[in-house]
Amino acid sequence: MEKTFVMVKPDGVQRNLVGDIVARFERKGFKLAGAKLMSIPTALAEEHYGEHKEKPFFGELVDFITSGPVFAMVWEGDNVIANARQMMGKTNPSEAMPGTIRGDYGLTVGKNVVHGSDSPESAEREIGLFFQQEEVL
Ligand code: ATP
Ligand code: MG
Repeated sequence: MEKTFVMVKPDGVQRNLVGDIVARFERKGFKLAGAKLMSIPTALAEEHYGEHKEKPFFGELVDFITSGPVFAMVWEGDNVIANARQMMGKTNPSEAMPGTIRGDYGLTVGKNVVHGSDSPESAEREIGLFFQQEEVL
């Protein structure tokens, strides 16, 4: 069964949005396969966002994602990778549709509440970065 990596970012945890975001995925019908509250070490943040290393916002991105606890999750289900991206909405919350997580809760592209893997390759890579095999049920 397809799996994806979803993470409530530090702004979402601080604003007490973990429960709402978990509930959206549960109600949709996806199965929770792994979850933990954690602080991201700088090296892990740099590896996770490695594709953006050359971007001007890379430093800010790493600073932000390591600024407080995140809630890391693995969700499972048919087409969950693409579906999770749809449920999250566009990267820039000001362009994200109402009804999506970013559309409902975000204001700026830097603090956009949630992360979700963008492809099967990313999902496998990111689950492996954040979870030990035995933590994914
Ligand atoms: P994520 O990878 O966090 O799920 P995404 O896949 O929708 O988001 P990416 O293009 O991978 O978007 O960008 C990663 C993150 O970098 C975004 O979530 C956002 O917080 C930040 N980011 C993207 N573009 C910008 C920008 N122009 N200025 C500042 N931050 C940005
Ligand atoms: Mg991305």
